Parts: sequence; C-alpha cells; structure tokens
Amino acid sequence: MSDARTTAADRALRDDEAPPRPPWPELAPWNAAFVRAKLATRAQWPHALLLTAPRGHGKRVVALYLARALLCEHPGPDGAACAACDSCRYVMAGQHPDLRVVEPVVVDDDGEVKAATDITIDRIREITEFAGYTSHRGGARVALVMPAERMNVNAANALLKTLEEPPPGMMLILASDQPGRLPATIVSRCQRWPLPPPPAADVQAWLAAQGVADPATALAEAGGAPLLALERADADLEAERRAWLGALAKPRALQPAVLAARIDAAGKDERRTRYAAALDWMIGWATDLAAVAAGAPVRRNPDHAEALAALAPSVARISLSRYHRALLRQRALLQHPLTPRLAAVALLIDYQALFGDGP
Ligand SMILES: [Zn+2]
Repeated sequence: MSDARTTAADRALRDDEAPPRPPWPELAPWNAAFVRAKLATRAQWPHALLLTAPRGHGKRVVALYLARALLCEHPGPDGAACAACDSCRYVMAGQHPDLRVVEPVVVDDDGEVKAATDITIDRIREITEFAGYTSHRGGARVALVMPAERMNVNAANALLKTLEEPPPGMMLILASDQPGRLPATIVSRCQRWPLPPPPAADVQAWLAAQGVADPATALAEAGGAPLLALERADADLEAERRAWLGALAKPRALQPAVLAARIDAAGKDERRTRYAAALDWMIGWATDLAAVAAGAPVRRNPDHAEALAALAPSVARISLSRYHRALLRQRALLQHPLTPRLAAVALLIDYQALFGDGP
C-alpha cells in the first residue's frame, strides 16, 4: 500500500504529462503573521496541535502550511518550507508518503468530491496504521484531521490512543471550527493554537481586492469570517439572501412551502449548499432579532435594520431563544437532512409561530 503510494508519487513528479493538480492554496494574508511566529519556534512544538478558529478563517490552509514546513527537506532560516524540494513537491501534489490528511470527504481519482460524511473510525485507522510505519523519506511524519469535531465517538477514541502514545517523529495536527464539540480527552492532549481574529480593516481591503463590492456588509453578513464573506459575495447568492430575508421580515405573509421550494430550484447538486446558506441566513436573522428585541444593535444584517426593528416588538423572546438553539442544532447536523426542502419548511413553520397573532 505504502509502496504503491510512493511509486504513484514518483510517477507524478517525473511525468510531464501528469494531469494538472489544483493550485496549492494560498495562505490568507491575515494568517501569515501567526504562521511566521509559530514557524520561528518549531523546534519547541509538541507532538499534537489543535488549531482553532471559526469557519471561514482559513485554518485548513494554515494546517497544510505547517505540515509542509515540517516535511520540507530544506526549510529556510525562518522555519518555512522551501516549496522546491521533493518533499515540498510531494505535499503540493497531495502525494507525500509521510503525510496523511483526514477530512470528512471522499474524493475520487479526478479530484471530484463524491460525498461528505462524518470522520469514521475507518478514516482514523489510516492514521493509527500510519503511526506504525517508519518514515518513508527519513524525516517527520504528519497527520492532519480537519475539521476534528466531525469525528464520531469511535473515531475520537481510536485517535486518542495515538495521541496518548505518539510514535517518535510523528506530529498530529487537528483543526476545529467548534472545539467545544471535541471530547475533553482529545483537547487535553493537544496544545491549543487559536488563530487570532483577523483585523476587520485588513480583511475588508483583501475582500475589496477580490472584487467584493461592499466588503463591510459582506463581512458582517458572514459573521466576520473572511472566506465565507468571499464565497457569499456571489451575486446569485446575494439575490437569494434578499429573497429569504424579505420573506422572514413578513412572517404573517410568509409561505413556508413556497420559500423552501427555492432550495430545490437551485438544482440537485446545489441543494445542500443552498440549504446551508438558508440556514445561516435564518440563524443570522434570529441572532439579530434577539439583539434588537434586547435593545442591542444589528450585527449580521445591517442592511435590514429597519425591518428587524419593526419586527422585534412582536416576537416572543423566550421562544426565539429556543428557536435559535434549534437552528444551531440543525446546522451541526447539516450533512444529514435527506430532503433539505422539507427540513426548511419545518423550520419556517416554527419561525412563524414565534409571532403569535401579531401583525
Ligand atoms: Zn522543501
């Protein structure tokens, strides 16, 4: 198995006709200082790291950069990878024999994502077996698990054994959006590295450079997560957001089945993404509604501040808080709804019930 991997990697490096790989992801500028500071102390790194930051802050790429630096055969004096040695090229080709990347996706040979799943024990066994090998290239071995909170209970237990007795020269890097969902036994065996929150001004400048028309609003709508802001700046999605928020602003007139049907209209492949976006809009809306009802300012939807102010007096606040928690639970289960449209209908009916017999 491992020999086959090495052979495939050698072939990819030697064969000029090898199919093009997706470009090596660029480190987000707001994470560069963090990575630089950590690389400067790489001799003191523990054997297990837990990178944490909210979704959309670029920690997956940070994890890949750290892994590449650990595996590089000629790192610079700053500890950064040279990006030119065989090891670096293997990492960038996704074929380094001393690197395991466990993510909750199944990718086929063409690089297409086939399915998104939980991280199961079978995936973690890739790491526990890997822990038993010796290094192929005589250097470090690195295993990444991201996002770590997607491990199910059996998977987390299996990983724990490797965390407790790490083989020499092996580094485990976990990345998590929601470290609170990780077992305490896992967290306690890792050194926690929270990514610093990106400065809003830097991120807005970056978003503007990416062609985002209204960076401040885009960033606020994405809850401060730069990469999400960029994703959502897509014009279609923005039009869709307006349709959803416009409907949520008029709960009496809202027709749950009609609004939720927009998810199916997105086309078969887009449905889950569209449902995820709709769920996020509803969470943002509920967050803002609760804030306005409590006399606090709007955070997620500054462009709908008036509608929120008009609606807030008629919402049942205790029920709203329960509803908000239910939405968050739905988001945690995101991979599971079989029919996103029906899941959305149920959430919208519950939403209407928050307003009693009001206007
Ligand atoms: Zn290198």
